[in-house]
Order: sequence, then C-alpha cells, then structure tokens
Amino acid sequence: MTAFWTEADYDDHELVQLVRDPKSGLTAIIALHSTHLGPGAGGTRFWHYADAAGGMRDALRLSRGMSYKNAMAGLPMGGGKAVILADKARTKTPEMLAAFADAVEALGGRYVTAEDVGISEADMAMVAQRTQFVSGLPVEGEDAAGGDPGPFTAMGIFLGIKAAVKHKLGKDSVKDVHVAIQGTGSVGGGVARLLAKEGARLTLADIGADRAAKLADEIDADTVASDAIMSVACDVFSPNALGAILDDEGIARLDCQIVAGGANNQLARPEHGPTLAQRGILYAPDYVINAGGIISVTLEYLCRNKGDPCDINEVRKRIAQIPGRLEQIWRESDKTGESSDQVADRMARKLIGR
Ligand code: NAD
Repeated sequence: MTAFWTEADYDDHELVQLVRDPKSGLTAIIALHSTHLGPGAGGTRFWHYADAAGGMRDALRLSRGMSYKNAMAGLPMGGGKAVILADKARTKTPEMLAAFADAVEALGGRYVTAEDVGISEADMAMVAQRTQFVSGLPVEGEDAAGGDPGPFTAMGIFLGIKAAVKHKLGKDSVKDVHVAIQGTGSVGGGVARLLAKEGARLTLADIGADRAAKLADEIDADTVASDAIMSVACDVFSPNALGAILDDEGIARLDCQIVAGGANNQLARPEHGPTLAQRGILYAPDYVINAGGIISVTLEYLCRNKGDPCDINEVRKRIAQIPGRLEQIWRESDKTGESSDQVADRMARKLIGR
C-alpha cells in the first residue's frame, strides 16, 4: 500500500479523516488542510469515483484549494473539504447524511461544511439537523446572504471574465466576445445567463446534452457535444464542470486567449499553469475567480453564529473585489514572468503561514 501522505497532494494536511458507517453504507473523507486563518471551510462533494484513491486525491486537492481560496478572499477561515464516496447508482439516504453530519459535529467546529457537486441545499438542511458546523443553508428573503452558493460563484466568475477580457483583449465589455462554457449546471448556467445579458456570444456544452440545449434555447446560444467544447475557437474558454481538464492534451486542444471559469482544480498538474502561459493564454486561477460562493456562505455562517442578520450588500462588496485581485496577480505575473497560478499560490501560501 502506498502511503498517501507521501504524495505531493497531501501537502502537510493537518488532518485527514476516513468516515465509515457500515449501517448506512457511508464512506467519506474529511480533509483539513489548514486552520491557520480559522476553521477549515469547504463543501461536501458527493461523487462516484472509479477507485478510492481518486476520491482521496480529490479530497486533498480540493481541501488545499479551499485554504488558498479562503485566504485569497480575505476570509477568516482555513481550508477543508469532504468527499462522500458514492456507489455507482449514487445512492444517497438520510441515514448516510446523518452519519456524515455526526462526523462533522465530532470535529467540534474545526471543519465547517457546505454544498458542493452532488449535494443540494435540502441535503445540507438535513446535515444541519445534527451539526451546527454548516453553512449554505436556505435563507429567507432576497436581502440575506447565504443559501445556494452557485449564483454568488457565478457572479464572481462573470466579473472575473470581464476583468480578463479587459486585461488580455483591452475591451471594457463582453459584448460580442465569444465564450465557450463547459458545464451548464448551477455555476456554468449562471455565468452563461450573466454573459448573455451583456451581449456575449456563447457556445455551451454539458454531458447532460438536454440541460445545455434547454439553456441555449433560453439565452439564444449555440451548443456543441461535450467532448468538442475545449477545441471551440473562441475568446474565452470557461470550465465550469469538473477539475483536471487542463492537462497536456486538453491544453493542446484549446483555441482561445483566456481560460476563466469556476471548476475547482482545473490544472491537472502544477506544470500546466506554465504550459498555458507559454501558449500565450491568460489564466484566471480557479480558487481566486470562483470565491463568490464561499464568500456568501462564510458571511452567512459568521453572522448566524453571532445571531446577526447578514447584509447581502457586504457579500456583493466582497465579490466585487475578485477582479481587482486577479488584476494584481496578472500584473505580478507580467512583471516576474511566473505564470498566474504560481503567483497566486505564492501569495496564498504566505497568507496561510507556509
Ligand atoms: P453542478 O453539478 O450544478 O453542475 C456541473 C455541470 O457540469 C453538470 O450539469 C454536469 O452535467 C456537467 N458536467 C460534468 N462533467 C462534464 C463534462 N465532462 N463536460 C461537460 N459538462 C460536464 O455543479 P456546480 O455547482 O455548477 O459546480 C461546477 C464546478 O464549479 C465544480 O467543479 C465545483 O467544484 C465548482 N465550484 C462550484 C461552486 C458553487 O458555488 N457551486 C463554487 C466554487 C467552485
């Protein structure tokens, strides 16, 4: 057996916990990368992995990503993530969620969870019945922070794409800018709608082809098959599905000037950031551009703990800072010759004391 803590992805995690509950059939991993800035905050992913090692790798990489994301968003939170290893049929029961909630509660607040791929607001409400260490819960009223983080993530990505278009193409608007969007779920769909409103030209793809087609009808966009989206000739490629798509083969297929999207861990390996830069493609580091959701759920969590209502304007104000942070990274990258992901990693690691 290979010791997973000897792998690069382990990166000195503070804690990695395997949660097994034979009664409910739950197998989950809770990974806490860093609590230097506060409790490790990051969502729970419910996913079927081809093998358990893939689930472990995902948990570790996502958790480190959350340390970087929370630090770069200026939040008083560390980084953590949970992965529930689903079976092939993706069986999810209240008993499994209860066992998972008990494991989160037992960590006593070192880890604060929320939604991620495969986990709904209703699932999180169920988890919250057994642990207080949950954010991203349904909220009442349009002026309250919190609830589904997807729309807030989408807003930050939209603003980040506009900043990238300004930096790389010198344009103040995305009108007529061609954006190819991979994944039209909660985040990708939201990004597409915001871009469409501003007159961008859109090409969409999703492995659920009906989902992409329905959205394309709504916002007057084109669609392509999901295996063709990365080679669409466009200005911006926006990955909003799953990670590790920017590998040797994926980068070689790109026909764009900018990569800016919400998927976590887009770079398959660290060397792929410099590969993108060598191809002259401007990259928006994923954990910087996709921080809108965690900003919302974290402020909701902190306010709820203090018993205060949380003003949505504070969330909007912080999301509006995402483009400035990207600009700072790109300027530094232009100056030093490092790729943008290298600059961002360096800034984030300094913030978490590493
Ligand atoms: P989602 O489940 O709502 O949507 C994902 C979509 O991607 C689905 O429609 C799915 O069919 C599609 N998809 C999966 N594989 C694909 C492929 N190979 N090609 C094309 N489409 C594919 O999830 P989401 O909440 O929109 O999250 C999307 C990504 O953004 C994930 O990587 C997630 O970790 C990341 N993210 C989400 C948030 C959030 O607030 N929801 C925040 C930060 C990062």
